[in-house]
Amino acid sequence: MAFELPDLPFKRDALEPHMSKTTLEYHHGKHHKAYIDKLNEAIEGTPRETWSLERIVADAAGKSGEEFVFNQAGQAWNHSFFWSCLSPDGGGAPDGELSEWIERDFGSLDDFRKAFRKAATKKVFGSGWTWLVVEDGRLAVVSTSDADTPIAHGQVPLLTLDMWEHAYYLDYKNDKGSFVDAYLGDLVNWAFAAENLANQEDEGPARRRAAS
Ligand code: FE
Repeated sequence: MAFELPDLPFKRDALEPHMSKTTLEYHHGKHHKAYIDKLNEAIEGTPRETWSLERIVADAAGKSGEEFVFNQAGQAWNHSFFWSCLSPDGGGAPDGELSEWIERDFGSLDDFRKAFRKAATKKVFGSGWTWLVVEDGRLAVVSTSDADTPIAHGQVPLLTLDMWEHAYYLDYKNDKGSFVDAYLGDLVNWAFAAENLANQEDEGPARRRAAS
């Protein structure tokens, strides 16, 4: 069965003024949809038609000649995950176990924000993503290029921010820093990150959703 564009978990105008309805119309309705459409075309008539998105990502990762499928599948997965990282009620601070992990591994929430902001604005050259992940039992901030994704590297993603130009250019032009600040200050869905931390041994809610 072909993959379908998942609905956003909020209305397209729900994140204004931090992320505009126009940005989401293009980002979700055009860009994300195009990745899914191209993936469906690429796997039509192959055994991968019945696979989960995660399985396609894992299978195509790093294989010569599979870059196109990996890029479409990776971007389809990354965007599904990204929408759940945003919330009209986002921002603030995490609590519980996630708060303790952040203090243990970054020093403080503010130090985490600085590390994430630096990675998003300085370590993504060209198109890519910045992530909060669990690796070897500790939290880390990592950036990936193009369609690359932590699920292809044995890391468990808790949060991500899309740093492709299409994610911010309509609202912030070249001001990446203000986009990252809006994410960390007003949009980030800590409850989703906490859920992913609690479920890190299994596939997690968004990962199951993206894979369905
Ligand atoms: Fe994007």
